[in-house]
Amino acid sequence: MSTEIYDAIVVGTGAGGGTAMKMLCEAGLKVCAINSGPRIIPEEDYRQHRQVYDLKFRGHGNPLRFEGKAHQEPYSVEESEYSEGRDLFEHDVAYSNAPGTDWYWKRCKATGGKANFWGRSSARFGDIDFKAADLDGFGENWPVDYAEISPWFSKAERYMGVASTIQNRPSNPDGEYLPPMPWRCIDHIIQKGAEKIGVPYLPDRCAQLTVEHNNHPACHYCGNCSRGCDVGSFFSPTWFTIPEAEATKNLTLLTNALVRSVITDENGTAKGVAYVDRVSRKEIEVYARVVVLAASCVETAHIMLNSKSQHWPTGIANSAGQVGRNLVDHLYGCPGYGYLPHLLGQPASPDSIADSTVAWAPRWQNLKNPKEEKFIRGYSLYIGGGCGDFPGYYGQIEGFGSTYKRDLKRYYPTPIGALIQAPSLPSPTNFVDIDPGKKDIFGIPQLRFHFQWGENELLMWQHSKQVMIDLFKAMGGEMWGMDDEPNRAGTSLHETGVCRMGSNPETSVTNKWAQTHDVPNLYICDASIFPSSTDKTTTMPIIAFAMRTCDHMLSNFKAGVHKRA
Ligand SMILES: Cc1cc2nc3c(=O)[nH]c(=O)nc-3n(C[C@H](O)[C@H](O)[C@H](O)COP(=O)(O)OP(=O)(O)OC[C@H]3O[C@@H](n4cnc5c(N)ncnc54)[C@H](O)[C@@H]3O)c2cc1C
Ligand code: SF4
Repeated sequence: MSTEIYDAIVVGTGAGGGTAMKMLCEAGLKVCAINSGPRIIPEEDYRQHRQVYDLKFRGHGNPLRFEGKAHQEPYSVEESEYSEGRDLFEHDVAYSNAPGTDWYWKRCKATGGKANFWGRSSARFGDIDFKAADLDGFGENWPVDYAEISPWFSKAERYMGVASTIQNRPSNPDGEYLPPMPWRCIDHIIQKGAEKIGVPYLPDRCAQLTVEHNNHPACHYCGNCSRGCDVGSFFSPTWFTIPEAEATKNLTLLTNALVRSVITDENGTAKGVAYVDRVSRKEIEVYARVVVLAASCVETAHIMLNSKSQHWPTGIANSAGQVGRNLVDHLYGCPGYGYLPHLLGQPASPDSIADSTVAWAPRWQNLKNPKEEKFIRGYSLYIGGGCGDFPGYYGQIEGFGSTYKRDLKRYYPTPIGALIQAPSLPSPTNFVDIDPGKKDIFGIPQLRFHFQWGENELLMWQHSKQVMIDLFKAMGGEMWGMDDEPNRAGTSLHETGVCRMGSNPETSVTNKWAQTHDVPNLYICDASIFPSSTDKTTTMPIIAFAMRTCDHMLSNFKAGVHKRA
């Protein structure tokens, strides 16, 4: 047990927690940040400038890597042989899925969290999202509107560095951007085809530094971003918020410390957290005047539901039974892939410059009339292709030996594929709770998921398949196929809800400042506070909302609502 009392404890050092600890430390608060896994060391953990043939297991990873681990499922994209060895991903803490649920919960426990490896797509939400309930009559509006949050989006963009263009689209408010990434040959072909069928194809808003920005170097387009950037040319806590918070000397950073609960005093006010030291397996308490949870959406709800006391018998700040409810996600899946015959045999070009999106098709449905489609709201598409690291289309080509190799090369510049990003709607049957029968290896009761895709997002999925059929025709392409089913829930890593903000304490967990209604010195800085999902990704908004929440918290310190330790 530590006797020190900090001004603030921040749980999690990812996109949200990193932002919170930087802001609070820079304002002079003494902050204890607690992170469940080890500290990332970029030169050891980002092993990106290598080919799979340089790796011992040719990129497939050590087959024995999960030996003895509680959760043995590998995570896609971000967890690979490139980042293997230092235990950066969560395989000790198991979770359960209720019957009929197949949630894929991918967790990076290293400092910086998933934001070490993220895809960097960073569009603003707009009033079409915040006031969606007014437009189509479903669910609840957000307690903030665009005018209120827009200056915080600007602050987040200016800090992170987001490349894009001004586009004047009703669903996508424009922001403050670095120059966009140059378009590739395939972008021009896709854009022409998309135009013919009325689908916008525009530069994405991408937090990748096209020019030097805030002392971070410009990107050199190696295309390895999902393995971590070794020079810090995209926003990540490892290169941005964590070193800046540490430079203030106001930060104490605890690693390998798995928070199990928020602890309270006799009035039910938060007085600190209890964590398990993964190395000693001892349970330790730390104290502070204010507790900020930023453990990444569902894990924040997990901690809160496990924070039971006399005051909070069903979990802290859960008097209305809202913690864990309203889980939403992005439905992901490939609605169409194929190739462009007119590029067969063309010379290879460096198309894999971002390992993600250079351009995207932002929502174009239900813009004039919120009910013009069979579904409400709308989705976006990430369409891309061209010369990649690896010829993923190898299974589409028939043949053997030298003819097969020659054909592989001929097709190299031609593949095109798409990914749908469709928001699910909040539903009373989609939520997380504590599994009454299961504990993890540290004795912490496990989180359990209850989730099914709903009709609305499945209608979007069907719609996007027809769009891709039309697009291939318009581009003069040939389609190889489409996914039969969407990806497993959780795949997108954009889960949202579970501690939603709102004006009514009966139907929400926090107020519009992300301060819990029940416990005024407990704040949340991750996507769990977002009342609904949109067609856009979550990280830039997590950062913008975390900045605004910390600004409000700091004025509460100044006004004496929270006392300095
Ligand atoms: C491959 C990939 C592509 C992505 N693409 C995009 C994209 O294009 N755009 C976008 O907006 N988002 C994208 N994301 C999602 C993005 O990474 C997340 O939205 C973002 O990181 C969430 O921030 P966070 O702070 O909530 O969680 P994280 O960044 O995951 O950080 C959570 C932190 O909490 C800590 N923690 C968790 N549990 C505990 C505990 N019990 N005790 C102590 N500490 C704990 C973890 O160690 C970690 O440091 C992508 C993610 C990945 C991996
Ligand atoms: S493409 Fe740019 S941002 Fe991505 S890893 Fe390479 S240098 Fe870093």
